[in-house]
Amino acid sequence: MMKPQRQCQRCGTCCRKGGPILHGEDLALVRRGIVSLPCLVTIRKGEPAFNPFREKVEPAAHEMIKIAGKGASWECLFYDSALFSCLIHAERPMECRLLQCWDTSAIKEVSGRDCLCRFDLIDSRDPIREQILSHEEKCPYGKAMLRLQSLSAPAPPAAALQDLTAIMRADLLLRAAMVEKLRLNLQQELFYFGRPLFQTLHHPRLRVTFSGETLHLALVPPA
Ligand code: SF4
Repeated sequence: MMKPQRQCQRCGTCCRKGGPILHGEDLALVRRGIVSLPCLVTIRKGEPAFNPFREKVEPAAHEMIKIAGKGASWECLFYDSALFSCLIHAERPMECRLLQCWDTSAIKEVSGRDCLCRFDLIDSRDPIREQILSHEEKCPYGKAMLRLQSLSAPAPPAAALQDLTAIMRADLLLRAAMVEKLRLNLQQELFYFGRPLFQTLHHPRLRVTFSGETLHLALVPPA
């Protein structure tokens, strides 16, 4: 009979599934530059996100800051897949220290508690705070999700698609303005404004296209 697992086998599965969410205890890692802002991605309040404990995608109950992935993959930026090791092992974030894949009780205990948000990490005098607040006001996930859900109605109201288009365009416009004005690279943009809404909001009937830089949404007939 196989013995139950009691220690990490360094298989790398947890690091390949995605980096950790940062908590108050991890603030020092950012302050000391072990983890810099471009290594982070913001999950905005209401954004559809995978909940590993419920094993489903659901709107985030609050803002969260996560170690970014590698391009299109969620594999943690700090995971060295050739060596099966963590590049910041001695100073890894709290969730990584608590995670034991054979017993998830410790990490469940801290899940959703004392999570860092962008304003914990951005200087109180930094003018980008105003832009983040403006972005939240113009492009809220709550409103976008309601419009998205209404597309499931047998005859979706035309206003739903129009509103969704307006929100997604406003999101892209504000990002483009900030990228140009502040010379943000993609990783900085993903920390300050999270992922673009057109990449995170999905519906089986929704098609996204671009003409030049202008986003268009269309509803396709039900399958
Ligand atoms: S920070 Fe290190 S331990 Fe944590 S998920 Fe990334 S590679 Fe793995």
